[in-house]
Amino acid sequence: PFHVVPAFSRIGEENAFAVLARATDLARQGRDIINLGIGQPDFPTPPHIVEAAVKALRDGHHGYTPATGVLPLREAVAADVERRTGAAVSPDEVIVVPGGKVTMFMAILMFGEPGAEILYPDPGFPIYRSMIEFTGATPVPVPIREENGFAFSAAETLSLITPRTRLLILNSPANPTGGVTPKAEIDALVAGLAAHPDVAILSDEIYGQMTYDGLAHASLMAYPEIRDRLILLDGWSKTYAMTGWRMGFSIWPKVLGEAARKLAVNSYSCVNAAAQWAGLAALTGPQDAVHAMVAEFDKRRRLVVEGLNRLPGVSSATPRGAFYAFPNIGRTGWKAKALASALLEEAGVATIGGPDFGVHGEGYIRLSYANSAENIARALERMGDFLVSRK
Ligand code: PLP
Repeated sequence: PFHVVPAFSRIGEENAFAVLARATDLARQGRDIINLGIGQPDFPTPPHIVEAAVKALRDGHHGYTPATGVLPLREAVAADVERRTGAAVSPDEVIVVPGGKVTMFMAILMFGEPGAEILYPDPGFPIYRSMIEFTGATPVPVPIREENGFAFSAAETLSLITPRTRLLILNSPANPTGGVTPKAEIDALVAGLAAHPDVAILSDEIYGQMTYDGLAHASLMAYPEIRDRLILLDGWSKTYAMTGWRMGFSIWPKVLGEAARKLAVNSYSCVNAAAQWAGLAALTGPQDAVHAMVAEFDKRRRLVVEGLNRLPGVSSATPRGAFYAFPNIGRTGWKAKALASALLEEAGVATIGGPDFGVHGEGYIRLSYANSAENIARALERMGDFLVSRK
C-alpha cells in the first residue's frame, strides 16, 4: 500500500548492536556471558560531568539551544582542539551533534550521490559503508592491512582516487583494528592530496585520546593546507565514557558547516541542552579520569594480546590505540563469523566477526577490552578451552 524509497533497502547495520541484543538475551536465560563485543568504555561517566548535567537541569536549561550548540561549549571545543592539535579553531566552525555518528551521516549525505565515489577504511566502522550505499554513491574500500600495522597506507589510499572521488574517510586510532596511522604516513597522504584539491576529507578521530606506548595521535587538523576541505569527527562518547549521552562535535569548513547546520535544524534542532552543559564540564574540568581510564585500558591491552597469542591458531598484533584487539584467527580453521557466533552460543563470550567491518575483515575477530581484567582473563580461558575442544 505504500512505497518506501529504495535507498532504505541499501542501508546497513552495526552488527555490534545485534550481538549485544543476543548476549543480553542469553544472559536473561541465565547464561553467564562475558561481553567483549560492544565498543564502549565500561567506566561510568566521571561524577563532576554528571553533576554538571543535574545542575543544568536544576538551573532551568530546558529549552532549545542554538542548532550548533551553546556558545560556551563551542568555545570550549575550539580551545580543546587547538590545545591538542595546534590548529587555530573558531567556535563558528564547531558543530555539536548528537553523537559522532551524526557527523558521519551529514558528511556522507553531503558528498554521496550516484556516480560519486567515496573512499573508506576496510575493515572499518560499518556505518561508513552503510551510509555511502544509502546515498547511492559507490563505496571504494581502502584496505587496512595487518602487515602495515593496521595503518592507512598513503600510497595505496592515493592510488584509489579517481576523478569521481568526492570524499575520503580516514579513521585513526581505528575501530576495529586498534591501528594508529603514524605521522609520517599522514604527512605523505596530505602531500599527495595536494594533487586532488576537490577531494574532501572526513577524519574520524573519536579515539584520538586513546593511544599507547607513548605514540602520539597525528590529527589531520594539524595540516593547514587541507583545512578548507577537512571535516573533523570527534566527541565525548569514548574519551569521557559518555556513549549514552549522545554528544559529539565536529569542525567544518565554512560552506559545509552551513549545510550541516541546516541539516541539524531540519532533523534534531539541537543536542539535549543539559548534556551540552555536561560536555562543557568534561572539556574544562579535570582530565584525570581520562588518563586513568586510558592507563587501565593499556594494562588490559597487554593482558588481552598476551592471552590471545597463547590460543591455538590465533595471533594478535599489538593494538596501538582505541580499546580493541583484532586477532588473526586464520590458522584456527574457522571462518570469522562462524567463530564469533560459536564463541557466543557455546562459550559465552561475545566478540564480533571481522567481516562485519568489511570484506578485508575475514580471518579476524574483534574483541573490545573495555571489560574488567578479571572478565578478560575468564573470556580468554573459555576461548582457549573452546578452540582446543573443537579442533
Ligand atoms: N566512529 C568510530 C570509529 C566509532 O567506533 C564510533 C562508535 O563506536 C563512532 C564513530 C560513533 O560514536 P558516537 O557514539 O559518538 O556516535
